[in-house]
Amino acid sequence: MSPDPTPRPEHLAEPPAPYDVVVVGGGIVGAAIARDLGGTALRVALVEGRDDVGDGTSKANTAILHTGFDATPGTLESLLVARGYDLLGEYAERTGIPVERTGALLVAWSEEERDALPGLRDKARKNGYDACELVDAAEVYRRVPALGPGALAGLTVPGESIICTWTTNLALATDAVGRGVELHRSTRVEGATVGDDVTTLHTSRGDLRTRWVVNAAGLGADRLDAVLGHDRFTVTPRRGELFVFDKLARPLAPCIVLPVPSSRGKGVLVSPTIYGNVMLGPTSENLADRTATGTSEAGFDFLLGKGRTLMPALLEEEVTASYAGLRAAIDRDDYLIDLDVAQRYLLVGGIRSTGLTAGMAIAEHVRALLADGGLAPLDPRPDLPAPPRMPQLGEAGVRPYEDAAAIADDPAYGQVVCFCERVTLGEVRDAFASPVPPCDLDGLRRRTRLMNGRCQGFYCGAHAAALVESGGVERTPEVAR
Ligand SMILES: Cc1cc2nc3c(=O)[nH]c(=O)nc-3n(C[C@H](O)[C@H](O)[C@H](O)COP(=O)(O)OP(=O)(O)OC[C@H]3O[C@@H](n4cnc5c(N)ncnc54)[C@H](O)[C@@H]3O)c2cc1C
Repeated sequence: MSPDPTPRPEHLAEPPAPYDVVVVGGGIVGAAIARDLGGTALRVALVEGRDDVGDGTSKANTAILHTGFDATPGTLESLLVARGYDLLGEYAERTGIPVERTGALLVAWSEEERDALPGLRDKARKNGYDACELVDAAEVYRRVPALGPGALAGLTVPGESIICTWTTNLALATDAVGRGVELHRSTRVEGATVGDDVTTLHTSRGDLRTRWVVNAAGLGADRLDAVLGHDRFTVTPRRGELFVFDKLARPLAPCIVLPVPSSRGKGVLVSPTIYGNVMLGPTSENLADRTATGTSEAGFDFLLGKGRTLMPALLEEEVTASYAGLRAAIDRDDYLIDLDVAQRYLLVGGIRSTGLTAGMAIAEHVRALLADGGLAPLDPRPDLPAPPRMPQLGEAGVRPYEDAAAIADDPAYGQVVCFCERVTLGEVRDAFASPVPPCDLDGLRRRTRLMNGRCQGFYCGAHAAALVESGGVERTPEVAR
């Protein structure tokens, strides 16, 4: 019998089969989980409330690939940061996520901090990291001559590295989509009805049905948890403000300069960035407003004061930008990852200061928990596509504008659109042609570095806006008659 050619009227359409898993939250953690589960035969969706992936905390951090040397030994965080360091480092090589193995130097500025250094080295060993070495003040200044006066001693952490957080998020989301994960952007989960076998998520764009739900909603994880009927934790947005200094400052920071950590967190650091700048920050301030990603006068003054002590020469350089990110702090000093088998629901909460590094390990951990909870099949599919090769945004690598062979092959890579960051029309075009294209200027910036330089879009902003409007296609301007 031939199939019925009459299309079924919309209102009689059968509801689509439920997903096996819906992951809520398109930050690094959610994208890593969706990518990981997308490597199985399961039908998976990644749902993000904003217009783009990587537009929450994952876009505004200090972008350090942490060894986990200073984590609290025995915590889930310490295990997953150490594992994530290896997983992401290896994944970065395969996908082209820029990483620079700069190493870090932790500097003691008081007797008390100097006395704490051997304990930090022992803590690192307990975390399985044996490479730290105590150094005296002379060695501290030999390594970072621009440090302010008064450094007493240091601890080296050779494995600490800098990485591109934007490319990390995009690589994971792009890989997830390549593996068949359905990405729903601009889709905020607002309610849920948990049935016997299927949960219906009520979203800003209609209902989504799924067998299992993974909550990786970052700053919104407690609210989504409440939507699913729980009352177990509250997220406190902890703001971290940072200054970005011009590229001329880069020789001042040959490695990451860390403070001795305190109970308030990792403290203010000076770090080179993967784009060739130097960063000073972050602050640490608990807020009530989960949208308060603006910078403040108090934060500005605090960072100036810190900068004056840490590296006075840095303050002679120009500040290119300042920004702030919100850590999803909760009232415990560890990740809160919890599986509710009866509800077929897994919470990934409290991924506060280390989620960029730990994301892929969190994903691995989540898969193991889901397997214990009875979700199947979770074996890797044999036909997995190769991971994507991401655009090269790192200052240390070869960028398209300086790649003669690429330009000869495709002249668009020789057509510079943003002169501060030397972003070409070819890269803008590629961003719009990619599996997860940008929706706005900020998304294009995260994919290309466009408008990220010292003029912050003053010169290229109008052109960039026109390119967003046209989907990355250069339109010849009409000549006035
Ligand atoms: C100042 C600062 C410095 C940091 N430095 C580092 C560092 O150097 N190294 C490191 O490893 N980590 C660092 N971190 C931590 C790291 O950035 C975070 O742990 C990580 O980005 C968290 O990722 P996430 O996916 O959990 O959250 P997010 O990136 O915030 O993603 C969560 C997503 O969920 C979405 N969402 C929320 N509610 C809903 C809903 N109801 N429906 C649909 N979508 C929803 C949000 O829109 C958001 O996009 C830092 C953080 C800050 C703030």
